[in-house]
Amino acid sequence: MSQVLKDIWRIEPVSRIELVDETKLTSGTITNLTLDLLKAGLLKETELTTGSVGRRRVMLRLNEMSFKIIGIDIGRSSYEVVTTNLIGQILDSQEVLIDRDTDPLQVLEGVAAIVRKSMSQISEQNDKLLGIGLSIPGPMNLKEGVLLVPPNFPHWEHFEIRKELESRLGRRIVMNDDARTSALAERWFGHSRKLKEDSFVYITMGHGIGGGVVSNGEIILGNNGLYGQVGHITVVPGGELCECGNRGCWETVGSIPGILRRWNPENKNSTIEDFFKAVQAKDPSAERCLEWTLQMMESTLTTLFNVYDPALIIIGGKLYPYLESYVPRIRHHVQASVYPSARSHVIIESASFGTSQSAVGAASLVFGELVERPLDVLDEVNMANE
Ligand SMILES: [Zn+2]
Repeated sequence: MSQVLKDIWRIEPVSRIELVDETKLTSGTITNLTLDLLKAGLLKETELTTGSVGRRRVMLRLNEMSFKIIGIDIGRSSYEVVTTNLIGQILDSQEVLIDRDTDPLQVLEGVAAIVRKSMSQISEQNDKLLGIGLSIPGPMNLKEGVLLVPPNFPHWEHFEIRKELESRLGRRIVMNDDARTSALAERWFGHSRKLKEDSFVYITMGHGIGGGVVSNGEIILGNNGLYGQVGHITVVPGGELCECGNRGCWETVGSIPGILRRWNPENKNSTIEDFFKAVQAKDPSAERCLEWTLQMMESTLTTLFNVYDPALIIIGGKLYPYLESYVPRIRHHVQASVYPSARSHVIIESASFGTSQSAVGAASLVFGELVERPLDVLDEVNMANE
């Protein structure tokens, strides 16, 4: 059933005959499996008229409004709760600003209050909640649902986040770190699905620089769960000390604090808005700083294209909207630097969900589980709704 659901998600609208071709299953099996998926409410049938004689064909697609998903994103400066449908469209979103020193239990009470309200809205509309996903800064022990020592997030060290949230909400929580959930938002709901490309690199640029690498549709974890830590590629050997313990990482110079420190080390109060205003006013020091920022970005993206050979690189995060207008220049420089055979495939896209990227990513974790283990997830939904 998982394979059929995945194929429908990938190539919808699709007829049963096309599914037989795609899956190599018998037409009887396809009829039975699609009937089960229709009964579960995951699919709907639409009619498509094709050809000059107007032949009508029954097509299958995801029934996007049948289930709702709740995605929670807890960050260092805010938390957000979104409700999405099955194709990642945001139906409702609430964001609350916090500061780094807010007590985790206080944050969880706030999150739980919003989620409970969303849950009751979903049941008032006679809809079903498919599940709840959580996105939060890593690193974390995914098996135990416990945070390790997330940088710049002092009160959350070794916090048993999953247990605390599950006990407040009475539902199982599926979680991952914010860079990976942001990447998975693209995998299940964004560019990767639209372009039918399942190998890509996602980069988030903000107060830090993080990333997630998706290869053949799977997020790659690596030996120590550190795969795709693109912000910690050394760009200045012997440079500034980084959170990770290394020196001269891309993050130390290319993140928002990194740019501001290079631009104006004396003034600790300047903001990234101030910096880009100075660039627009043609302030020479700001222009020099921006030029170096872009050059580092170009060389790092070239490295990523050469090392990972992805179909595309997707960039998001709080810094990226300021850099977006430079993408044609960045693409041009990267094209000139990658392997000649890869030059025509240098695709750089903007993240699909703006400031809600990791909250939608949290919701995508639930959708990913549904596609991988549809029967288990549906059983759980039915039990929760009894
Ligand atoms: Zn580092």
